[in-house]
Parts: sequence; C-alpha cells; structure tokens
Amino acid sequence: MPLNEILTVYPLVFIVIALIVGLLVGSFLNVLVWRLPKMLEREWRLQAHDILGLPTETPLPTYNLMLPHSQCPHCGHRIRAWENIPVLSFLFLRGRCSSCATPISKRYPLTELACGLLSAFIAWHFGFGWPACLALVLSWGLLAMSLIDAEHQLLPDVLVLPLIWLGLIVNSFGLFVPLHEALWGAIAGYLALWSVFWLFKLMTGKDGIGQGDFKLLAMLGAWGGWQILPLTILMASLVGAIIGTVLLRLRNSKTSTPIPFGPYLAIAGWIALLWGGQITDFYWQFVGLK
Ligand SMILES: [Zn+2]
Repeated sequence: MPLNEILTVYPLVFIVIALIVGLLVGSFLNVLVWRLPKMLEREWRLQAHDILGLPTETPLPTYNLMLPHSQCPHCGHRIRAWENIPVLSFLFLRGRCSSCATPISKRYPLTELACGLLSAFIAWHFGFGWPACLALVLSWGLLAMSLIDAEHQLLPDVLVLPLIWLGLIVNSFGLFVPLHEALWGAIAGYLALWSVFWLFKLMTGKDGIGQGDFKLLAMLGAWGGWQILPLTILMASLVGAIIGTVLLRLRNSKTSTPIPFGPYLAIAGWIALLWGGQITDFYWQFVGLK
C-alpha cells in the first residue's frame, strides 16, 4: 500500500507522525523564538547606524538560526544531538545542563510538547490531506508569533507576511474558503484594527494596539475568510480583557502597561478557523434566531 493510502486508511498513523513532527518543529520554534527577535534587533541597529551616518561598529560575530550552535547560556557547553531530543532529553537530563547542572527553563520542553499536541490534534481534526498539512504550517506559525509577541510585544513581518500570502494561495484552490472570501478577509481584517487604532489615537493620543496586530488579523482573514473576523475579535477581546486584568492584578502594575494582543488574536483566530461555523450556529440557536 502506498504511504498516502496508509495515512488515509489508518488515521492513527497520521496522528502519531504529526505528533513526532510537531515535537521536532517545537524544538526548532524554541530556537526561532529565542533568536529571531535578537537577529531583527541587530539588523535594525545596523540600519539605524547607517541612516544616522554614525561610524560603523566593529562587525559582530555571525548570529542566525543555524549559527552559533546551541550552547548552555551558563557554562557555554555545546548541546549535543542526544541532548536535543524534544521533551525526552529534558527528562533524561532531569532539567539540568549535563556539564554545569544549571537548571534548564521548563518553557523549552513545554513549547515542544504544546507544538506536538497541537499538531496531533490538527491531524485528528482534519484527517490526512492538504487541509491538515497546511493547517499544521499555520498552527506552527501562530505558535511562534504568539510566543514572540508575548515576550517582546513584536509580531515579525518575516513570519506574518508570508503567511498572509500562503493563506491567499491555498484558498485560491478553495482549500478552506473561496478566494474572494479570503481576499476580503485579509482586507477587512487589516482595516478593522487599523480603524480602531486611529480612532483610539485620535481620542486619547496613545497607541492602543500594535501595528503588527493589523497584519495578524489580515492573515487570519486570508486563511478563514471574512466570516471568522467578528468572532475572532470578540473572543480575543473577551479573553484578552479577562487574562489581562488578572495579570495586571497579579503583577500589581498600572493599566498603561502594554499587554500583547497578538497571542489572544492568534488563539481566537485558530479556534474560529476550526469551529467558527458551529460556534455562530450555536449562538444564533441560543438567542432563538435559528
Ligand atoms: Zn552548563
């Protein structure tokens, strides 16, 4: 039996493969989430130096997604292949560097585990086929963006923009929604938050939401069509307001402290993409209009 037939006939095989691939991708996302903001910062520094006509700094050592090799931030011990197996290595090493025994942050195995489970879930939800494979790419992208935004209040264009295009391309084949719905989803998604941004700015003189959020919502519209936008904004605002208030209370900080909106948009958009139809149907039945 050819592989694609095996994966269609035995969904469990596909789910297990998705889980393993998801764990490995999670391991790569750890590198991406850690290094990409630093890479961008270096690039912006260089550009700023150039524009301001400042003397060029001494060239910095190479820093990208491949180099330098991963190492312990405490003792510089180079992470070997067997120490880099998603989740398992963390358990073998009991959460400590094999050379200096400094504790390793739990966020690394947790990101790998989250990515693995998310991928297995997508495989189960869609079954083997193009929709599952592309939903995996989207989910990995959303996970990376959420983690970066949560930490740096930054939604990198290098992640968001290609995924806007990919959403439009996959829907040109009608994979999730017809192309015209995807196109208007991208446009309306951008304009919706752009209008809120300017309204808030004109009224208060402050930046309410980050500009990256416009592009993120445009991206979600490109994948799920304009229909998912109201539900996405509603869910993101509700969850954001609740979690935001709790976090502010816990940290005892002022209400002007910026809270990244990206992770909430990403989670809400992902849910709306998978179950948007059912949720709105349920709502209409609930209020007695259907
Ligand atoms: Zn170490």
